[in-house]
Amino acid sequence: MAQITSAGEKPLLRIAVVGHVDHGKSTLIGRIRHEMSSLPGTAAVDASVAGNWAFVTDQLQEEREREMTIDTTQTFLDTPACRLVFIDVPGHQELIQNMLTGATRADAAVLVLAADEGVRAQTKRHALLLSMLGIHTMLIAVNKMDAVGMREDDFRTLEESVRAELQGMAVTATAVVPVVARDGVNVVARSTAIPWYQGPSVMEALGEVEPAAATFSAVRFPVQDVYRRGKTTVVGRLLSGTIAEGDRLTVCPGSGTLTVTEIRRFPEGHAPVEAGESVGLVVEGQMPTRGDVLAPADDLPMIGKEFSGRVFWLAAEPLAVGEEIFLRCATQSVKVRIEGVTTKLDSATLDPLPEASSLASMELATVRISAGRPVVLERFERVPGLGRFVLERGGTACGFGVVA
Ligand code: GDP
Repeated sequence: MAQITSAGEKPLLRIAVVGHVDHGKSTLIGRIRHEMSSLPGTAAVDASVAGNWAFVTDQLQEEREREMTIDTTQTFLDTPACRLVFIDVPGHQELIQNMLTGATRADAAVLVLAADEGVRAQTKRHALLLSMLGIHTMLIAVNKMDAVGMREDDFRTLEESVRAELQGMAVTATAVVPVVARDGVNVVARSTAIPWYQGPSVMEALGEVEPAAATFSAVRFPVQDVYRRGKTTVVGRLLSGTIAEGDRLTVCPGSGTLTVTEIRRFPEGHAPVEAGESVGLVVEGQMPTRGDVLAPADDLPMIGKEFSGRVFWLAAEPLAVGEEIFLRCATQSVKVRIEGVTTKLDSATLDPLPEASSLASMELATVRISAGRPVVLERFERVPGLGRFVLERGGTACGFGVVA
């Protein structure tokens, strides 16, 4: 019997590479690709060839549909053990929005820090946002060690301060590695150029990272479109679980049910098991519409008109209590009202901010939201695709949130 699942085959390890601009992210990724490609069984995969892996970043569906350019470069490496995807996340403050979408589905992050510059506002903001997105494993590459004469003192001071900063954000630094990305020191192989360092290289430390296991297995299928030519076909992308022909599912937020009579793939007959697969379900029963979410009756998602989210605000014009704004989550687009703003934080300094009735650019807060009709949500840790949302004003994404 045909069935689809959201689980992948070969482990896919997604690594977001973040850090302040010019600290050496691209150089590090380039060096890894260059050195790893010469190892047996490992091949660099062209991004265009890997186009069918586009799902790996799990960019918000809406953004894909509008063909918004996501300025995030991906580097693919096929190793005997797994598929590695490096997501080079731009460092500029203005590009934080891209980072949010590009890094969303990472299993781990490499934070690149230039030894001669140390922790910058951007570094902290990136780490904070990654922790908000559920990435609590971070590897620190202290790059440009040559610029500080490979000195251990400078490295230890930086290591101590970065570990302390991360601890405050509930992020664990699994390893802090002194690196010269330009020359490949401690990038893939350990190097004698830094004799006082006994720990792993960047790639060795990454080898210890386990792909985030999909612990949640109930079906979550946001409906993207419904076609009614003869049979009714519901098109969408499976966020979690497995759907088989014959399954009966509830059309959330309502209570009606439908039965899947046939599964259609695009293109016809391609490999059956892929994470985030887009499929057509031929159905009978309750007709869903765009924005509905299909789920099993015995394990339904959160459905409600009032909820809270941890929101990061990007637009210059602050978000005000009382404002009406559009919320997009998976394929849902709902007009909502901002009911309250609490527990504000400055994203660069991580300092708490005094309570106020608005949220300014680069501030993070818990925002209470009410909607005119029920919204289907999940906690981010359970189903990321239903646990994050974008707030829009006049069609422009102004803020990003995670269901609290
Ligand atoms: P990104 O903006 O973080 O991607 O940084 P890049 O990879 O573009 O590097 C910024 C600059 O730092 C470039 O001029 C690199 O050549 C230089 N750079 C990168 N790695 C090293 C290093 O290990 N040592 C030194 N001295 N310079 C480096």
